Amino acid sequence: MAVIAFIGLGQMGLPMAGNLLRQGHRLSVFDVNPAAVQRLAEQGAQPAVSAAQAAEGAEFVITMLPHGDSVRSVLFGEQGVCETLSPQALVIDMSTIHPLQTDRLIADMRARGFELMDVPVGRTSDHAVAGTLLLLAGGSREQVARATPILMAMGNELVNAGGPGMGIRVKLINNYMSIALNALSAEAAVLCEALGLPFEVALRVMSGTPAGKGHFTTSWSNKVLKGDLTPSFMIDLAHKDLGIALDVASQLQVPMPLGAASREVYSQARAAGRGREDWSALLEQVRASAGRPTQVKTFPLDKGK
Ligand code: NAD
Repeated sequence: MAVIAFIGLGQMGLPMAGNLLRQGHRLSVFDVNPAAVQRLAEQGAQPAVSAAQAAEGAEFVITMLPHGDSVRSVLFGEQGVCETLSPQALVIDMSTIHPLQTDRLIADMRARGFELMDVPVGRTSDHAVAGTLLLLAGGSREQVARATPILMAMGNELVNAGGPGMGIRVKLINNYMSIALNALSAEAAVLCEALGLPFEVALRVMSGTPAGKGHFTTSWSNKVLKGDLTPSFMIDLAHKDLGIALDVASQLQVPMPLGAASREVYSQARAAGRGREDWSALLEQVRASAGRPTQVKTFPLDKGK
């Protein structure tokens, strides 16, 4: 069983640390909130008065903190982890922070002779309680192998994201997509209400289409991702249908800011001569807008038609 320092005992960290204790690991815990430290002490953890004290003698140090700045101050600040950390220990930052901050933390720790890996988590505090978090492991192959037994006390699915800093990157992309989709879903649900359409009917239909399943594994998988832009559903027609939805919404006084912005992306694609390409060609359009090289070179239809 491992000796673990756990720092940051909030909504996520408290149950995660509790699960490590229940698996028989020895924990030393610290939080700026003494009540949280007390709760873990009642479950058998060793309470610490600083991050430095918690890290003393630890094989693993886990941080589960709100921001990159709090992780930095817990590691490098006064009474911080680095004051007592063993060079053999592995620091695992499980917080959701800025990926470029993660890169700097890894480099700054390395410069001091210490190891840090990023393992942010997916899912919610209910999953933290149940020990069923999704673990998104950055770090080297050796670090992932070393951390896996203790990580699996907190989650039930581990993705090796492919190297240092990749865990926080995949977390960022996943959050971006699901958080933005939440707002688009709300627009669609309110339009559904305004049209008097039972939500269950919309739900049934959308759960089998890219609306509910997302595009990566549906409309993109056999098209743009395979280098094929021959239309199964044309950009021109998608632009027309989105326009109808926006017109109806406007008449019903339902604001659709995300839908309106999306139509502009389709308009850009049409202006770039992609109107008769498959709607998955939007990926290429957004690449072009970002000044990145397009990857599907073989346009099947004459541009500008
Ligand atoms: P929280 O605010 O409940 O907990 C953060 C804890 O860190 C608090 O107990 C706070 O007192 C402590 N803390 C802050 N600064 C500190 C310092 N300098 N030293 C010691 N302790 C300090 O937040 P949370 O919901 O537990 O989230 C923690 C991290 O996990 C965040 O990065 C969050 O984005 C991420 N996350 C949260 C969820 C969720 O559903 N809540 C899901 C996935 C990831």
